[in-house]
Formats: sequence, structure tokens, C-alpha cells
Amino acid sequence: MDTQRLAPIQGLIHLLAGSGKKYDLEKIERAFLYAEEMHEGQMRQSGEPYITHPIAVAEIVAGLGLDTDSICAAFLHDTVEDNPDKTDVGKIKELFGEDVALLVDGVTKIKSINISDKEETHIENIRKMLLAMSKDIRVIFIKLCDRMHNMRTLYVKKDEKRRATALETMHVYAPLAHRLGMQRVKQELENYALQYLDPIGYKEIKDHIEEKYGRNVNFIEKLKAFVTEKLEQTKIDFILEGRVKTVYSVYRKMYNQNKSFDEIYDFYALRIIVDTELDCYTVLGLIHEMYKSVPGRFKDYISTPKPNMYQSLHTTVIGKDGIPFEVQIRTREMHHVAEYGIAAHWKYKSGDKSTADIDQKLSWISKLIDTENEAADSEEFMHAFKIDIVHDETFVFTPKGDVVALPQGATLIDFAYSIHTGVGNKMVGAKINGRIAPIDSMPQNGDIVEVITSKASKGPSRDWLSIVKTSEARNKIRQWFKKEKRAENITVGKAEIDKLFARHRLVCSEDEKLEIVATVGKRFGMNEADDLFNALGYGGITLAKIELKIRDEYERSHKSAEKEITVIEPTIQSTKRHKSTGGVIVDGEEGCAVKFAKCCNPLPGERIIGYITRGYGISIHKADCPNISNAYANEENVNRFVKAEWDTPSGGSYKSSYDSSIQILVNNRISLLAEISGALAEMKVDIVSISTKNIEDSTIMNMVISCRDIGHFNAIITRLRNIKDVIRVTRVIGASSK
Ligand code: MN
Repeated sequence: MDTQRLAPIQGLIHLLAGSGKKYDLEKIERAFLYAEEMHEGQMRQSGEPYITHPIAVAEIVAGLGLDTDSICAAFLHDTVEDNPDKTDVGKIKELFGEDVALLVDGVTKIKSINISDKEETHIENIRKMLLAMSKDIRVIFIKLCDRMHNMRTLYVKKDEKRRATALETMHVYAPLAHRLGMQRVKQELENYALQYLDPIGYKEIKDHIEEKYGRNVNFIEKLKAFVTEKLEQTKIDFILEGRVKTVYSVYRKMYNQNKSFDEIYDFYALRIIVDTELDCYTVLGLIHEMYKSVPGRFKDYISTPKPNMYQSLHTTVIGKDGIPFEVQIRTREMHHVAEYGIAAHWKYKSGDKSTADIDQKLSWISKLIDTENEAADSEEFMHAFKIDIVHDETFVFTPKGDVVALPQGATLIDFAYSIHTGVGNKMVGAKINGRIAPIDSMPQNGDIVEVITSKASKGPSRDWLSIVKTSEARNKIRQWFKKEKRAENITVGKAEIDKLFARHRLVCSEDEKLEIVATVGKRFGMNEADDLFNALGYGGITLAKIELKIRDEYERSHKSAEKEITVIEPTIQSTKRHKSTGGVIVDGEEGCAVKFAKCCNPLPGERIIGYITRGYGISIHKADCPNISNAYANEENVNRFVKAEWDTPSGGSYKSSYDSSIQILVNNRISLLAEISGALAEMKVDIVSISTKNIEDSTIMNMVISCRDIGHFNAIITRLRNIKDVIRVTRVIGASSK
């Protein structure tokens, strides 16, 4: 390779080679050469060749400890935008791989967002959008480095351009750097921005600082050495950090807190991080032994944490040359929390996102930045960096250029309701980037979304409830239905309930159903069944919420109808046997008419019992018939039960057939009824009566059939159950008549 052409990056290559980290130097050189070729002949406003800018950005990127691909992308970051006729992202991918191409593409896209004229309230969203749009956090890092070099060379630009860029830096990029834990980048960006936003204020403070402290350039270093020496004499484990306040932070303190320059005591500061709370106070004692403390400057945020959970001991002491400095003492854990504090700014607007999630993501980044300083294995580090930060949010623009944050997967309907309830309710269509789009489409990051409303709109559609993603939109749609459409809601809710009954095969009369619904509704503070139907209709209550309660209530009301089944022991004992019609032998009574109870339709072979009716002879029930146990519960009836049993078939006096009620539940299918009646005919079973009821896609058939005995009956049931699409066959016992 042409060593002469590589001369401008010799220093960088040398630095990388000696860094101890793994870099693909050949690839980096290729990226530089390609960038140089692309920018050939281009000049910066300063008159320098354009390539000086990408070189500087690459150097800053490398200085942050970023990897080979980031450095390559830094060299290439302006090639696509500046030379659309010479190269494109596809070409970059071909030459340098997918990662570099994605990074270049990401940095290029960010440029197209015009940020400087946005209102304060949208800036937070823009910051988030930048993170969301760059699928790879390295894009933001490169962008920050790009911005850093632009700020360093901003003096060559025209006045208005300077101001706009400085404002954008102050409002968007410096906070972004701060949130990513890039303190040094943040401070430099703020300082440069201030120079252009308030050049007079900046110079004043800078002069002041130089005048007052210029003689003590090594103050912090000396201080650190001295305190370290002292602390090492104790058994306490500690980390010591020192810092000097920047012009910007002095400026902010003076103007935001209205302090004079001499009131700024924390221009120099030491931070001591120890293991335990006790150590904190021990170290505090040592510091106060070493230096004279400034009265009224001690703050114990350990016993009284700040509202944002910040904990630390702060004290200001006077150093050897009469220079005050602040000392912050805290445990590792407290330091950790102080770092997490960053994440506190990242509250989601929509309440249904957990902030803990985001906190966790961001703390993770700040941890990474920490390890970066310790020269962690760069490949692993970068792999870990490829994470989604705010990828569960989508950022779109209104036609006016306001940024709206939506949860990922949100639709245009959600967007409309997030603008205003009225906009959502009157929505009839929408446009994405000027083109008509279905209202259930999901906009992408950076889309411009416009809602089309009409006064003639009849309001939201019920379908929207299942389309929208945000609870805000859902609640607003429900509110509309609740107010506007009670009758319709009741119909919709009723249908829902019918479906629920059918789905769970709950069989009962319409009245019973209303009673069950009303009972369940009362548990939600509703007066009548219609209220619950209404709530279901507008979505104020979900089916899932009442499903189990409805089923419980159904079970409960049915259990009470069945009561406990007890087999009654007749009290009348007699040796006399009475033969009667129908093949039943009854004890005791003689010459008495015998009939079979319609409620339970006993079949030969089943245990039976006789009940002496008032004036109608003896009626024969199944021994476990619920009506019998009900009657037995009444003391007056105790003497009316008689023992009964079936005559032997050899007696020949069985009736030829007995009626029996059954209920069949089937899935609707053409010719199923024909199959059922065919099966019955084959078994020589007569259908005495039949009625059917459709519920959605299933049918309930109530049938009275005639059969010989319990054995025959069981065979019929088994046969029916084996027919395809027959879900359930049950014998009906305990109907009304006796
Ligand atoms: Mn650039």
C-alpha cells in the first residue's frame, strides 16, 4: 500500500498497534484510503482538505476505545451523503462488510433529522428517537464524535449556523452523551456549545478561572497523591477520583443557582469510594483531620438521601494553598445508584411501560463504559453493545414536525388518539409520508403521520378495540361506546355471553342465564344483567374477567338444583308381595295402580322405590331421583315410601318399552341428525319426541326415546357417543313433573 498516502493516519495506526487491543489495521487503512478517494478535491470551509474531518473523527472514535468497524465507519461517515454519484451503502457493504455499512447508513440518516428548531418538550423524544433509529449504539457514538469535531471547528462557520449547531449540541447531543455515561464527551460538547451560545459569559468565567486558579495547574494531582498516601495508612479499601469543574458547569451553577464565582466551592472535587457506610464516616473523619472544613458545607445524604435516591457524604474543606475543594464520600453501592440516576430521566410517557426495564438497560450501558476503560476484550465488548436500547418505542412526526412516541406495534389509530380524543373519534383515514394508508398500519420510526378526520364520522368502530395497542386509545374508544351506544352494547354483550355459554357447554334456560349474569354483575357493582352486557359491549369489562365467575355461578346454581342424592330406605316393611303391571313388584300395598315417574323415567335393571301418591296410586322412581330425596326431607312423607323392585324378565311381564329423556350436544354438521336417527333406528329405538336448539356452531337436542332396560339404554348412549361430532350425551333426570 502507498505509504505516502497513509501518512496522515500514521499516528493513529501507531497508537492502535500499541494499544494492546485487537484491530484489523489493514481494513482501517483501506477505509481511510477509500474515504480519501471519495472526498478528493473537496474542501472544508476552513480551506483544509475535507479528509481532515473524517480523520479527526476516526481519531476521537479510536480514543473512546471503539472497535475496527467503528473506526472504519468514522472514516467513511460522510462519503455516502457527500458523494451519492460515486458510492452508496451497498458499495460500502461490498467493500467493508455489513456492520460498517449499517454504521455509515445510521450516521447518514441521523443527519437528515432537523433538530434545531424543535420545542423544548420534543427534545427528549428526539433523543430517544435517535437511539431508536440507530439499531446499533455505535452509530450514536460515532455521531457524537462527529459532532465533537464539528464543534471544535465550528469557528469557521457563519454566525447563524454556529448558533443552530451549538443549540442542537446543547439540547440533544450533550444530554445523549451524558445518558450514555460519556462524561468527557458531554463536558466538551457543553463547553464548546456555551462558547457560541453565550460567548461573553463564557469568556468571563474562563478568565476568572484562569486568574484565580491558573497558578495551581497541578492542584488536583497533588491533592490526590496526598490524600492517597493518608488513606493507605488505614485498612480501608478505596477508589479515589479527582475532577475539575468545567467552564460550563461553573456557568450553570452561577446562572441557575444565582451564585457568585467565589461561592463556587466545588470547583475542585475528590470522590472517594469505599466498601461500607462505616468506612464513609471514617474517611470523613480523616479528611476533617487533614483539612479545615468550611462551615455549613457538610451534607449527609447517607442518613437523608436525595429524592432521587442519591446517597453520599459531601464536605468542603480548605486545601493547603487556601483553595477550597469538595470531597464526596460514598460506598460502591451508593455510587452505583448515583450512576443509575441517569436512567431516572428516561421515564416513559405511556404508563404501561416498566421503567425498571429501561433502568436496567441503561445501567448496563454505563457498566459497559466502565469496563471499556479497563480495556476489556474489544470484540466481546462490541458484541454486547449491539443491543436495542429503546427499541420498544416508535417515534413519528406530526405534519407540523412534532415528535410523538408510540409503543412499538402501535397503529395509526393509536397515533390519532394520542393526539386528541376528538381526532381519534372522528378519524376516517390516515396518511403515512403523504400516502393514504390503512388505519391499522403501524408507522415506522421517522414516518410523518397525518390523520384524516371528518365531521360526518359516526365514531370509532368496535373492531378498533382489538386493533389498538395503547391502553390510552382503548380506554378512549371504550368511553365513547359507553356514552353513545348502550342499546348496541347490550346486544353485543349478550352475544358474547351466549358464546361463552356455548363454549363451555353451559345449558340452561334464558331466565336462568340472566340470573347468573345478574348475580355475577353484582360482584362488579352492577345493578342488572343489562349493565354487565353493556360493560362487555363497550369493553369496560373483559370476558376473560368474568368467564370463571360465570362458570362458578352456573355450577353453583345447578348444584343446588340437584342437591345431594340419597337412596331412600322405605319404612314400610311387609312380607306380602304385590304384583302389578309394568313388571314391578311393590311391597305392602295391594291392588294399587302403579305408574312410572316422568321425572326420572326408571328403567328395568335400575334400583327403584315406590312412592304412595295422594290418589294416584304408587309412582315408581329411580332410588336416587332428586324429587324423592326432596320429598323424603319432609317428615310428613316418611311413611309414604314402599320397597319396589323389578320383576324377573322370565316373569314375562315387563312392559315392552320405557321412555327415557336424553340430551345430546353436537357440533353442527350437515347430515349429523340423519346419522343419529339412523343409529337409533338400527338399535330399534323409537324417538318419542325431539326438540333442538342452536347455539352458535353447536346444537343441543332434547330427546325422549323408548328403550327396553338400563342395559339397552347404556348401549344406546355408547353408540351415540361414538358418532363423530357428538360432544356429549346425558340422561336427563329430575325434570319438573312427578
Ligand atoms: Mn461529519
